[in-house]
Amino acid sequence: MRIDILTPLPSIFNSIFETSILQRGIKSGIVKIKIHDLRDYSDSKQKKIDDYCYGGGAGMVLKPEPLAKCLRSLKKERKYNKIIYMTPDGQELNQKLSNNLSQLENIIVICGRYKGIDQRIRDLFVDLEVSIGEYVVSGGELPAAILCDTIIRLIPGVMNDETSALLDSFQDNLLAPPVYTRPSNWEGNLVPGVLLSGNEKEINKWREEKSLYLTEKRKKHKNIK
Ligand code: SAH
Repeated sequence: MRIDILTPLPSIFNSIFETSILQRGIKSGIVKIKIHDLRDYSDSKQKKIDDYCYGGGAGMVLKPEPLAKCLRSLKKERKYNKIIYMTPDGQELNQKLSNNLSQLENIIVICGRYKGIDQRIRDLFVDLEVSIGEYVVSGGELPAAILCDTIIRLIPGVMNDETSALLDSFQDNLLAPPVYTRPSNWEGNLVPGVLLSGNEKEINKWREEKSLYLTEKRKKHKNIK
């Protein structure tokens, strides 16, 4: 899979993609991530990429030309399955969407900043708008990193034990059961005995019960269906 990220602040991604699981996916060649600095696509002398908001009001808007220039040059090189814009008014990210996106070959992710990007780019180029939740952060870089993380860890070969991504919360609409590690007696707090029993059937039953319990509890708590 190839992910092209368009951003006014490329350095934010350095440490994120240089660590952990994501790095394993990148090093092994299973996933390619290319970060594009929007300033490199600005034709102005000062490398200007933002401008005032028509109609007035505080805050700058990312200009259409650098975004369009970058998008057009990428689209010339290969076919993209999805051009995604990270935005608080987009479709809320969930595991199902991540699963679907992880099957794709080439995607572009656009990060906004300030008041956002010129609407015409959204109208003409973007075919999926994704939000990480009903709150606003200062730029699309952290939302894009979250999106990429959740997609990349699902690609076969990226995680050591491939099945472990499948057992995470939300994969089967169930939350994951509690997990424990050594010592079994930590300051008098004991690990549930069944997990030490070696009885796989009983352990699976316990995990299933806990998953169901936590899922129901969350539904009640969040008042979601
Ligand atoms: N004025 C916009 C917010 C701009 S925040 C509004 O009210 O909707 C600047 C940028 O941060 C956005 O363009 C977007 O790319 C990113 N961003 C902020 N919150 C986000 C969220 N919840 N999900 C995804 N992207 C977000």
